[in-house]
Amino acid sequence: MHSYLIGSEFVKKISLLGATGSIGTQTLDVIQSHPEQFTLVAMSFGSNIKLGIEIISKFQPSFVAVKDKETYETLKLHFSSNVKFGYGDNALIEAAIYDGVDCLVNAVVGSVGLVPTLKAIENNITIAIANKETLVTAGHLVTEYAAKHNVKLLPVDSEHSAIFQCLQGETDKTIDRLIVTASGGSFRDKSREELQDVTVKEALNHPNWSMGAKITIDSATMMNKGLEVIEAHWLFNMPYHKIDVLLHKESIIHSLVEFQDRSIKAQLGTPDMRGPIQYALTYPDRLPLEKSKRLELWEIGKLHFEKADFKRYKCLQYAYESGKIGGTMPTVLNAANEEAVAAFLKGEIKFLQIEDCIERALDKHESIAHPGLEQIQEVDQLTRNFVQTLIS
Ligand code: NAD
Ligand code: MG
Repeated sequence: MHSYLIGSEFVKKISLLGATGSIGTQTLDVIQSHPEQFTLVAMSFGSNIKLGIEIISKFQPSFVAVKDKETYETLKLHFSSNVKFGYGDNALIEAAIYDGVDCLVNAVVGSVGLVPTLKAIENNITIAIANKETLVTAGHLVTEYAAKHNVKLLPVDSEHSAIFQCLQGETDKTIDRLIVTASGGSFRDKSREELQDVTVKEALNHPNWSMGAKITIDSATMMNKGLEVIEAHWLFNMPYHKIDVLLHKESIIHSLVEFQDRSIKAQLGTPDMRGPIQYALTYPDRLPLEKSKRLELWEIGKLHFEKADFKRYKCLQYAYESGKIGGTMPTVLNAANEEAVAAFLKGEIKFLQIEDCIERALDKHESIAHPGLEQIQEVDQLTRNFVQTLIS
């Protein structure tokens, strides 16, 4: 049975995948600040046991999935209580569809989030999606499943939340263009020559947002914006020629929508991911956001905008091209990027080699149209193997 009643309010039962991450911990902040609205019933995390234990002790979920057996054994010894534990891919699915879950917050990083998302949709669970890799690797499957099961896919990514908020009360056929804003990441003021020898530490230093390592590198290469263009294509059913990227270094305007009468709506706010996370959890309602900073535009004074340069940011170009080709091309884009970014973070390749790896993987691939889940998974694995051989 979904949801139970306290007074006249529904308490939404949440499953949170990626609880120890940047989005995960901010989601927990939101849940904790509205205990009359939300309760955490299931969660997952990878390897941060210390934080995992803190979260379990505090939120007392019924089920916890972890990545590997070792972490699972440690947790079982630590908690003799009523918390149930699991590990591996099946446990991640079990967490996603755990008994009575109303809303799955998918905040894992990478295409590992795909199958749990599809299973949750099959179980009629609303999806709050931060995990953009899932929409990039198999956006057609996710949106088809969601339509078939009449399940809501609510965006958590700030740009997509902004677009979603601008679209409230509008009809699809009046939309002329989506404008996705981009901060430009850690290296926005560097030339391509200067990018040759940048370090991991420099790349991890994002000017506006504090986020997980993978997305911070994606922001520096601009692949993050490329992935977001594909994400917007699927979430809002918009052709690629109607999605633009606009550089806006202050990250105050989170994105915009242009309508056929040339009116443009924008959504603004101080950069704080708890805003879009909470909106996905409360939609279509709004609640006060605890400890939030009011946006005072006079304090900022000026906002800046620039055209996105596709020669400077090759990953953005690759993303548009892969998206337009469709089929398994975005799967290759995503898998190659995940492997290359992991290698860069381990110091195995240089920054600009990330885009080389992606380019070579894309060049080699012949896209398969309308792939099913198994084909997606096979292409994902083959691409990872290919990039691994490039690196070694
Ligand atoms: P993160 O690295 O901080 O956290 C990732 C979480 O996933 C961690 O809890 C980790 O333990 C867990 N995880 C990783 N691999 C796993 C596996 N195989 N099984 C189970 N759990 C696993 O990442 P993040 O910055 O929170 O980003 C999460 C997702 O949200 C990404 O897709 C990212 O692109 C997207 N996103 C993040 C932000 C942000 O501000 N951080 C903004 C927009 C979108
Ligand atoms: Mg974003």
